[in-house]
Amino acid sequence: MNTHINFKENLAAENIAGMNINTQLFINGKFVPAINGGTIDVLNPANGQIITKIAAAEAEDVDVAVIAAQNALPKWLETSAAERGRLLLKLADLIEENLEELAYLESLDTGHPIRDSRRLDVPRTAACFRYFGGIADKIEGSVVPVEQGFLNYVLREPIGIVGQIVPWNFPLMFTSWKLGPALAAGNVVVMKPSEITPLSTLKIAELIKQAGFPDGVVNIVPGYGHTAGQRMADHPDIGKISFTGSTQTGRNIVNASSGNLKRVQLELGGKGANIVFEDANIEAAVNGAAWAIFHNQGQACIAGSRLVLHESIADQFLEKFIDLAKSIRLGDPLDPDTEMGPLTSQAHRDKVLSYAKIALEQGGKVLTGGIVPNDDSLKHGYYVLPTIVEAKSDDRVAQEEVFGPFVTVLRFKDDKEALQIANNTEYGLGSGLWTNNLQRAHSFAKKIKAGMCWINSYKRVSPGSPFGGVGKSGYGREMGFEAIHDYTEVKSVWVNVDAQIPPHFKRDDS
Ligand code: NAD
Repeated sequence: MNTHINFKENLAAENIAGMNINTQLFINGKFVPAINGGTIDVLNPANGQIITKIAAAEAEDVDVAVIAAQNALPKWLETSAAERGRLLLKLADLIEENLEELAYLESLDTGHPIRDSRRLDVPRTAACFRYFGGIADKIEGSVVPVEQGFLNYVLREPIGIVGQIVPWNFPLMFTSWKLGPALAAGNVVVMKPSEITPLSTLKIAELIKQAGFPDGVVNIVPGYGHTAGQRMADHPDIGKISFTGSTQTGRNIVNASSGNLKRVQLELGGKGANIVFEDANIEAAVNGAAWAIFHNQGQACIAGSRLVLHESIADQFLEKFIDLAKSIRLGDPLDPDTEMGPLTSQAHRDKVLSYAKIALEQGGKVLTGGIVPNDDSLKHGYYVLPTIVEAKSDDRVAQEEVFGPFVTVLRFKDDKEALQIANNTEYGLGSGLWTNNLQRAHSFAKKIKAGMCWINSYKRVSPGSPFGGVGKSGYGREMGFEAIHDYTEVKSVWVNVDAQIPPHFKRDDS
């Protein structure tokens, strides 16, 4: 089952007249239909039209993928670390060579503006594979100074078969965040992209094949969460699950993983506080706060979805911030001028819109947005205008993850209150501070309950920098050396090199 997609004129101008995308499951190096023949419609969020149908993996397909991974494991374990690295570097090169196709697929499938897919998603995906390609042969153990006469060394070994469940908000980038460290560390993988946005991950499957990874080392099984995802979580031969998505699904996965006590790494929701102090550079903070919430239509776990403003600058800040929000260009994600595309699904768009009503019900104010755009050309897509509400710190719009272009403004009078508001959440993922006071910046970075803190910026990510959260935002880390730790088991080896060991059970006659 292959689908031919025609590029729009403006993209065809860049030497791509059309493309074939594989829409089947990728198991043991081959594209195959689902055993039960099921399919899922993949929709274009900009107009609600069906782009294509993909094969829908169910539990049986996951089982076949796990067997393929199991069979591939012995040979992969014998593959040198340098060779694993070389394959990842080759994959990074192929991603760059296929930048236009990948950017196009990502924008078509998710609604990301193509300008972001081109300059952020695809380059970051290649950079991530390159980083982990470089790290593959630098995963060292250690030697521990133990008692005289013994050598103790510590090995980092792959876990074996890992299951990876990818959400729909950054499918391409998250594919690399999960595959990069898992493969560098010598694991084999069964990955499930989201049923909503599987296309770029299936393209990566093709490139994996082209790069020369042995069959079965990576298996990609798009399918629904309650069938394929659930089977991955409870599969007895999968040693670890890496999951990105909602806190509720994360909890289900932890429960399902208890059968074989598999390791779990969770990257869940967030309610990032972005604090602007009275001494901040207001122009920079306005722009940074807009990027923090409106990039990718706010569908980011690290989004700065709580904008915490010092009362002395709040009105001045909001005037500029609202103006900027109103000026953001909504449109076709494939148009290079578009700054904000549609939300990724209709159900999700409806959920985001419902929060404008929730804000009002609890006495909040909608300062702008909270509705769909009044524009005929956008009426079939899942668009929401950039939305700014003002509320109180305990209100639902300040507590629950909306996951859209929806920011809740909260005011504070002093540093103590700012910190109290910032930490008044069950999440702890991204956070930001805008201030020119060095002491305050470092003090807040230390005290804020979050896995990441940006000072005078927001939403920076790099393959070398650990990414993850605390509290209900999950545990474990993606990227950086921390991710390698998360994809390896530690083995401590004791060698008697010269020890005289007294008998433990001394007998009188011995
Ligand atoms: P979700 O958590 O249900 O889906 C994410 C992934 O998990 C998908 O691949 C899905 O198929 C899979 N999944 C679903 N149920 C599963 C199960 N029982 N076992 C195993 N895998 C399962 O997310 P959603 O319903 O699509 O979105 C709901 C909310 O989750 C959003 O509004 C947002 O708040 C949050 N979310 C967060 C992130 C993030 O980056 N942390 C990403 C997506 C969604």
